[in-house]
Amino acid sequence: MAHPVDHPSPNREPRPDGAAIDILLIHYTGMLTGAAALERLCQPDAKVSAHYLIEEDGRVVRLVPERLRAWHAGVACWAGKTDINDRSIGIELVNPGHEFGYRPFPEPQMAALIELAQAICARHPIPAHRVLGHSDVAPERKQDPGELFDWPRLARHGLGVWPRALPEPSVAPGLDWFLPRLARAGYCANADPAALLTAFQRRFRPETVTGAPDTGTAARLTGLLKILSRAG
Ligand SMILES: [Zn+2]
Repeated sequence: MAHPVDHPSPNREPRPDGAAIDILLIHYTGMLTGAAALERLCQPDAKVSAHYLIEEDGRVVRLVPERLRAWHAGVACWAGKTDINDRSIGIELVNPGHEFGYRPFPEPQMAALIELAQAICARHPIPAHRVLGHSDVAPERKQDPGELFDWPRLARHGLGVWPRALPEPSVAPGLDWFLPRLARAGYCANADPAALLTAFQRRFRPETVTGAPDTGTAARLTGLLKILSRAG
């Protein structure tokens, strides 16, 4: 990867004393162009930023140094904790998103992301299973990076986890089965159940995102919890 180009954003501040950086959060920009996204991420009154932005051609822009706190998660929660910006590094992938023409993330962008994410995870105590999507931590508000994002490819590079295909149960379990298991996976139980299921499917069963319990979703969730129980 070429060295990141610095394009400092004023939207930054110190992290709280002693904050460990243990989440890597993946976003899409959700705007028509990378230039428009970069401008917004640097506008003081927008009050948003991220540590990095990756253009569709693979160019990496650094907006905020990793040791500082950027403003990308918003109201968010994971594994019972709501201080997501304190403890995370945020990467924005240029993509118009669901609102402006969602499209696949191109090869140069994915290759640059994997190289950058591996370097970040080597610098900080971020375990594979805490490489997350914005929709994982804000399921009622966010869809990014969305069902076209190649999580299996990241998992093959040690970033994020991807459950193996398990046999599906013959009958779909109900919400009372799903909700405690989603909570064990890290999803915060204060969100609307349909939003939680949608976020889980968008991430782990992207071919069918319905927000409703079904056998395929149950199999993926069981597989995910097996991986997480080994990760400790
Ligand atoms: Zn986002």
